[in-house]
Amino acid sequence: MPVGTQGTMKGLTSKQLTELDCQIILGNTYHLGMRPGTEILEKAGGLHEFMNWKRALLTDSGGFQMVSLLKLAEITEEGVKFQSPHDGKEMLLTPEKSTEIQNSIGADIIMQLDDVVSSTTTGPRVEEAMLRSIRWLDRCISAHAKPTQQNLFAIIQGGLNLELRKTCIKEMVQRNTPGIAIGGLSGGEEKSLFWKTVTLCTDHLPKKKPRYLMGVGYAVDLVVCCALGVDMFDCVYPTRTARFGTALVPWGQLHLKNKQYSTDFEPIDRDCRCLACKHHTRAYVNSLLGREEIACHLLTIHNIYYQMKLMRDIRESIKQDKFPEFVHKFMKRLFPDEIYPIWVREALASVSIFLNTQETANSKEDKLCKQNDSTPFDERDS
Ligand SMILES: [Zn+2]
Repeated sequence: MPVGTQGTMKGLTSKQLTELDCQIILGNTYHLGMRPGTEILEKAGGLHEFMNWKRALLTDSGGFQMVSLLKLAEITEEGVKFQSPHDGKEMLLTPEKSTEIQNSIGADIIMQLDDVVSSTTTGPRVEEAMLRSIRWLDRCISAHAKPTQQNLFAIIQGGLNLELRKTCIKEMVQRNTPGIAIGGLSGGEEKSLFWKTVTLCTDHLPKKKPRYLMGVGYAVDLVVCCALGVDMFDCVYPTRTARFGTALVPWGQLHLKNKQYSTDFEPIDRDCRCLACKHHTRAYVNSLLGREEIACHLLTIHNIYYQMKLMRDIRESIKQDKFPEFVHKFMKRLFPDEIYPIWVREALASVSIFLNTQETANSKEDKLCKQNDSTPFDERDS
């Protein structure tokens, strides 16, 4: 799922998103609740009507945005207290309020308000947040006014503590929500802990319900986590990185602001069939970056197209029972020297996909996992 904020996707229209083959997009409850606001959305007949989007929508609970964007957020049993960035007034987002706003927005999938702690937090706070998230799930379920029209997803918490994760899963699965998310990851934890937590969750979650890993969007993470059994992802990364002049390609990234591209008349990716690649060159994008909005726009189109195609290719390979072959090909293209990050090899080996490797001990450092957006509110959409 690409991530929109106020019912738009970085300047793309609903028609363009449909053409990019997006089946579902994510809207931020926090932003939508502030503007246009629930009153206008209700008058419009919900966000689908308002933005003329016929396909699926998911909204987050608004909690993560507050905790990560607003320094003054304070969490109590009642909910998340914060100061409005607009008028400085104190406001309280409770599980009931979050559900009510999401009912007005009318997305197909809505998320419970959870008590989010950073994945690098340790100590009793992690257990407290996990247990509170279960209690808040119950409050969201009770408050949910449209259970036959909107699917409320639970969010597994418990940090990097596998026992806490198991407890949370056991409790939340009993609530029988239509889908379940894995939350609280991708916040700067070591990759080896990241994948072990993901696989513990997918091992214990019901096989017939969608599993949604929140805030993950690097191509290599998508491929590995699909292998571990995840079905859905969201990330601001493809749209956000476009704004910094970066194009995602099967062999990594192109930083198109770099001078070397000013005389490069190749398309961004010769094999890509997106509008940007069909009609424009790297040199053209390079010349416009930083001066014209259209450069951002072209890169956003390309990056979303790239992510959609990647997921489509994964789905097709699974249907044809050729997923391991797909993984080998994908990894070889991204790491042509066959020196793979250790966590990637270990995670894939855990599901019997063994990468051929030239790897020698500590040949490549495993990066930390940090993809969740924590751009301050007023720097967004700039
Ligand atoms: Zn392209």
